[in-house]
Amino acid sequence: MAKEALEVLLSAEQINEKIKELAAEITKDYHDKNPLLIGVLKGAVVFLSDLIREIDVPLEVDFMAVSSYGADTASSGIVRIQKDLDQSIKDKDVLIVEDIVDTGLTLNYLFENLGSRYPKSIKVVTLLDKPDRRKVKFEADYCGFKIPDRFVIGYGLDFNENYRNLKDICILNA
Ligand code: 5GP
Repeated sequence: MAKEALEVLLSAEQINEKIKELAAEITKDYHDKNPLLIGVLKGAVVFLSDLIREIDVPLEVDFMAVSSYGADTASSGIVRIQKDLDQSIKDKDVLIVEDIVDTGLTLNYLFENLGSRYPKSIKVVTLLDKPDRRKVKFEADYCGFKIPDRFVIGYGLDFNENYRNLKDICILNA
């Protein structure tokens, strides 16, 4: 992929600034709680690792992996759990950490699935949101940036497993 095909949408500085804001809100809302943050693999790993270091309450971390786009950039609509949690979430304050809400299918499914496991509370934080592409109604409790309907990569987000290590979030002009 030629470098000129990448167009910076959100710079590392903008992302860092936004993460501090999100973490401050989360710290305030969970000041008397011990939340369990659930990262959705693999895309949310970079976001989660930066976010937790800015949150100033005791917290736990676990991960889930669900089926995603694969080699295509269009959503299949099929959600399958590939890796489940290591622990029960009964009576826990769960915060799902996602990289991007697109059609909403993944988070809608995860929210329902985890919600049926008797958590004390369940909320969602997403770094990015593409509201134009929704197939099901879904609104995250905390959202970093609303972005246009473009395929983005970097800061954990991939195209064919590449580009996750970019510091900026870029539009892939394929
Ligand atoms: P949804 O189920 O909301 O359609 O999709 C959520 C998942 O699709 C995200 O976790 C992410 O893996 C993938 N996805 C959606 N939009 C993009 C995008 O613009 N770039 C990349 N790299 N992945 C995306």
